[in-house]
Amino acid sequence: MSQFNLNTFIKKLRTRVFPNLSYLPQTRIRYCKCCMMLSVFISLSEGDEYKLCIRCRANTRYELIAAYLRSTCQDLSNLVLVELDNRSPLRRYLSNSKEYIRTYYTVDASPGSTSENGSRCEDITHLTFRDSSIDVIISSDVLEHVPNLSKAFQETYRVLKPGGFHLFTVPVCSKTEKRAEIVNSELIHIKEPVYHSDPLNPDGILAFWDCGPDLGEIFSTDDLKITIVDGPLGKDRRILWKAEKIV
Ligand SMILES: [Zn+2]
Repeated sequence: MSQFNLNTFIKKLRTRVFPNLSYLPQTRIRYCKCCMMLSVFISLSEGDEYKLCIRCRANTRYELIAAYLRSTCQDLSNLVLVELDNRSPLRRYLSNSKEYIRTYYTVDASPGSTSENGSRCEDITHLTFRDSSIDVIISSDVLEHVPNLSKAFQETYRVLKPGGFHLFTVPVCSKTEKRAEIVNSELIHIKEPVYHSDPLNPDGILAFWDCGPDLGEIFSTDDLKITIVDGPLGKDRRILWKAEKIV
């Protein structure tokens, strides 16, 4: 089980909850496309990021992923799924698969090792999975934090079965641009540093990329086709991407 961190909890209250109580009136009761229940979506932000299902904690981007999977894979029981998130709201739904592998990334654990809570340490640019062994990879707001995005998609291609796909969201920007890069082990900022909230790091995590609608044109190859499959949806105009390994 993940440990309760009092400092992180207090910081979340101070930075996310208290300053955003004015958005509470936007709280709604509606059907959740992630847990498939009538639920309260508590509102703690102007946009959709912190409009959360109180049953499963899903927000719009997780609902996009769940809805697409349900529409394209009616039966998960024969599929091997990898999610780049060890505490995802999709966890209960994805556990209906043949094998559901939850992953996290840290330099402090061996790649491929499994933590006490059952999640596996994986680097999207150096995965430990065999070639053509995974049916579906899922990530939500992860890829913008990967310095070498081309390498991430190469690994996606390597481990996916033919016809398999990587379903992902990234924060929506007007065009795809590198914000920072690693050169000779040194971090170089190209644009003003932007940090996103990260459950594993109270200080947040650096965004290496802005990702725009041109992402697919830039990173698709003859063998890995990257397209928008849903959205834009909601106030944040969220879109859902699919990187499919061509047979
Ligand atoms: Zn829900």
